[in-house]
This record gives sequence, structure tokens and C-alpha cells, in this order.
Amino acid sequence: MRLGVRGKLFLLSLVVILGVIVSFGIYLEYALSQWLESRIASELERHAESGRVLIQAVPNDYTVASIDPLADRLGRATSARITVISDGGQVLGDSQLSVVEILLAGNQGNWQEVLDAKRTGVGLSKRYSTLLETTMLFVAIPLQRSDGQSGFIRAAMSLEDVEKAKVTQRWVLLLGGLFALGAAVSMSGLNAHFATRTLRTLVRHIHAAGGRKLGKKRIRIFPRDEIGGLAGSFNKLAGELEDAVEALNREKNRMRAVLEGMSEGVVGLNRDYRITLVNQSAMNMLNLTYPPIGKPLSVVTDYKPLLNLAETPGTLNTEFDLPGRDEALSKRVCVQRTPTRTRGGCAIVLRDVTEIHRQEQIRRDFVANVSHELRTPVAIILANSETLLDGAFDDPVFGRTLMEAVERHAFRLSRIITDLLDLSRLESGRYDIEMQPVKLSNLIARVADGVGTLVASKHVSLNNEVPEEMIVMADSGALEQILFNLMDNAAKYTPENGKVFIRAKLQKNRIRVEVEDSGPGIPPKHHPRVFERFYRVDPGRSQDMGGTGLGLPIVKRLTENMGGLVGLESVQPQGVLFWFTLERA
Ligand code: ADP
Repeated sequence: MRLGVRGKLFLLSLVVILGVIVSFGIYLEYALSQWLESRIASELERHAESGRVLIQAVPNDYTVASIDPLADRLGRATSARITVISDGGQVLGDSQLSVVEILLAGNQGNWQEVLDAKRTGVGLSKRYSTLLETTMLFVAIPLQRSDGQSGFIRAAMSLEDVEKAKVTQRWVLLLGGLFALGAAVSMSGLNAHFATRTLRTLVRHIHAAGGRKLGKKRIRIFPRDEIGGLAGSFNKLAGELEDAVEALNREKNRMRAVLEGMSEGVVGLNRDYRITLVNQSAMNMLNLTYPPIGKPLSVVTDYKPLLNLAETPGTLNTEFDLPGRDEALSKRVCVQRTPTRTRGGCAIVLRDVTEIHRQEQIRRDFVANVSHELRTPVAIILANSETLLDGAFDDPVFGRTLMEAVERHAFRLSRIITDLLDLSRLESGRYDIEMQPVKLSNLIARVADGVGTLVASKHVSLNNEVPEEMIVMADSGALEQILFNLMDNAAKYTPENGKVFIRAKLQKNRIRVEVEDSGPGIPPKHHPRVFERFYRVDPGRSQDMGGTGLGLPIVKRLTENMGGLVGLESVQPQGVLFWFTLERA
């Protein structure tokens, strides 16, 4: 059985208390019997002394007949057994024996007390009397009569009272001892309880501290002893531990927040290439739904360049295409591997550069497109000018044709440059937009006039179905340009006798303006790209129409700058519907 400190203290107290009670009892019993026996002995000596005086004073014969009655009387008076013994050891009188018994009693001269009395004047002995069946104390002194007779007088008393007193004392001691034991046990139990209370609380708190359940709780310190000191030290330690844990937690949370707020993906690996840390951006890039902490990187991705990078020691920088669930989701990432200072792990930082890449590609395409767009009119203008200068100038018919071509392409050049400038102003935010209520039907009527010649030449019917009360919040110049580009395209691409409809619908607090035509339409696969610069569905036809490929990008930019959206839908059986939304005034 394992005993706690409290149990051990209690057991120790119990043993000490029992030891004290038992040894004290033994000593007390010994001292009491010694004291009582010496009292009885001195009493017996006094009785023997009185008997001696009497026997020496009475001039009776020194025979049984005359001495025994004296002994009887003395015995009655003293309640002791009085025996008179002759010098030769013969009994002359005994207060507790009859004459016959006296005559039958043997020689008494050899008893210890008689021998001692003869030698020292007083003899004392204690022995068991078979006659009286009890332990007796004998005291003998010598006597010397004036008639020359001598002998001994002996007084004896049973030690039964002493035994009784001892038994009584044992009971008293036992009861007192039990009481004292009870009191002492409770006291020591209480003492042990209080002494170990702080200790037990301390142990409980240490357990709690081990399991981090301590919180702000501290040990209440009662005693100002070593245990109290220990508890105080523990409280101090617990406080420091708490502070350290809090500081660590704060640091951890701060790091988490920084990691989670980063657009870069971060993956921490240990020396076995198992993941120790991963942030949301990395999870998005690696298509993970939960943080695979503790798993090997090779389980999470089978993309070889990334695995190779992780396993190549040292600091590395590279760029690769990270495959996504499908082609469209694959990403271009810039990856940096940095070894961690401890235990051979590393941190991999993934930066998504897909958008930057796309922008760069667009810029490269744009430059190529612009050069391409400009090259044709410039080449025609140059060639025609040369031919004119070489003499065609003098040919009125051919010269005029060449001059008209120069003018047409110069005009085209001018349109391209104007559109490019508009677009550049729009993209750089230098295009001032002043929002104000604009009545749609009036503006559409004005734009319809602008495209009137083209419409009339192709017998296209232009239907303005916009209700009078439709008023939008817009910059009227910008809105006019949007409508012009859309209506001009509709008129351009719609064949002869086609139809163009302009409508407006209320959608909550927005107005959706639609320009629908009955032309060849735009196949759905081109829909996502028609708003890109210089994108043409049918390049040949667009060139023929004098298009620059910048009309729709301008529409998109202008609408977005005014807080609107733009889109297109195919129309059955043929045609396309361009729409844009603006806030209702
Ligand atoms: P462009 O000056 O060539 O018309 P846009 O940016 O206005 O340039 O249009 C881009 C391309 O979208 C055009 O080249 C044409 O192929 C297509 N497109 C635009 N509007 C229409 C339409 N109403 N019907 C058919 N195709 C259209």
C-alpha cells in the first residue's frame, strides 16, 4: 500500500503516541508498586515494633500457650499476620494459625526475612504463600526479653491490595491512554492535514500546470514554512510560465495572422520533407482542402519540379507552371527555397505570378498588334506617295485614286491613334468623368443621327425602343461614345435590310441598355475575348469595315469607369445583343 505524506505523518505520530503511552504505563506501574510496597513494609515494621515492645514487656512464659494469644490479639489490632518465632526457628505464636497448626508448622528460622533480621536487625522478603494463596510481604525484627529469651517477631501482609491498585491503575492508564490517544490522533491527523494541505494543493497545481489548465489560479499559501516557501516559488514559477506561454501564443498568433494575410504561399518542411506549416495561399495554390500537417510533401503533390526543389539543398530561386485541376487553373509561380536554421528543414515560398505573366503577355501582344495595325496604312501611304511623286500625280484618274487611298489610310491611322489615346487615358485614369442624370432616348436619337448615313446606305432599320422616362447617371460624353461604338458596330456588321433595336430595361436601381442587331452574330467561343484590344472575330471583314479593333475595349473601360457592367449574348436566329448597365438617376 502506498502512503501519502499525510498518511506517513499520521502513522508516525500514532507510533510515537503509542510508544509514549506504553512506556509511561510500564514505568508508572513499577513506580506505584515500589511505592506501595515500601509503604506496606514500613507499616509492617511499625506493627512488628509494637509487637516486640509488647512481647518484651509482658512477663509471660515464652511458650506457645502464652505467646500465641498475644500474637492473635496483635494480629486483630493491626490487621496484619503477626508471627513470633523462637531463636531456634520454632513458631511460638501466629495470628492466623491455630495452636495445632503452629505445632505442625516447621522451622521458620531459615526464611530470608528471619536470616536478614538476625544479621542486620530488619529482614524483608516477598513470596507467595501457599497457605493464603496470595503474595505476602514479610518484615521480621529480632526480640530480646528481659528473662533472657530471644527470637523474632514477624509481621506480614497480603499484597493483594497492591495488585488491586495496579489493576485499577492499569485501567485508569488504559482509559486515559485511549483518550489521550484519541485526542493525539485527531490532533496529529489535523496537523498532518494542515501541514500537507499546501503540499497537496501544490501537487494538484503542478499537475494542472503540466496539462496547461492552471489559468490565472494560484496556490493559497497558509503556512510560512518550507512548504509555504515552495508553494510561493511555484506560484512565481507558474506566473512566469504563464507569461512565457502567453508571449509565445501572442507571437504564434501574430505569425499566423501574418502568414494567413500573405498572398504568397508558405510551406514549412522538416528534414524528412514532412509539412510542418502551410498557409491558406499555399493551400489554394496546391489545391488542398485541409492543412496536411505532418504529411510528406510527396503525398500532397506529385509535381516533380516542386519535389526536386524541396530536396535540393541550399537557397534556390526558380519559376515554374504549377498544374491546376484543369488547364485554366494552372498557375505560374515564382518559388524560393530557404533552408531553416535548425535541423535541416526548409521553407518554400510560392508567389503567384500568373497575372503579372498575363499582363506582360498582353503588353507584348499589344505592342505587336499596334505595330501590325499601323504598318498597313503607313505602308500604303508611303507606297502611294512614292507612286504619285514618280509621275502618277500627273495622271488625273490614277492620281486621284492613289490620293483617295492615302486619305482613307491616313484617316484610319488617325482613328487608330485617337482610339489608342482614349484607351490609354481611360486606363491611366486621366479620362475625366462627370456623372450627371442623362436622358437616354435623347442621347440615342443624337447617336442615331451620327450613324444615319451608314444605316441609310444599307437600308437598315434602326429602332429606338427606349422609353422616354429612362434617365441614367452617366458622363454624357462617355455614354455617347459607348452608344456610338455599339450602334456603329451593329450597323456595320448587319447586312442590308437588317434590323437594329435599342432597348432599355429597369433592373432594381439600375438600367440595362441593350443594342441588338440581326447581323452574323459572334460565336460563343469568342465572347470572353471580344473586349480585348485589337481582337477581331473576323479580321478580314473588320478591316474592310475600317474597324480598329479598339471600339469594344473602349466601351468596356468607359462603362466600368462609370461603375457599370458590360456583356453580350447571342440572339436567335441570328445576331448579337450587347448590353451594359448604369445606375438609375
Ligand atoms: P472593330 O473596330 O473591328 O469593330 P471592335 O472592338 O468594335 O472593333 O469589335 C471587335 C470585334 O468584334 C470586331 O472586329 C468584330 O469582329 C466583332 N463585332 C463587334 N460588334 C459586332 C457585331 N455587332 N456583330 C458581329 N461582330 C461584331
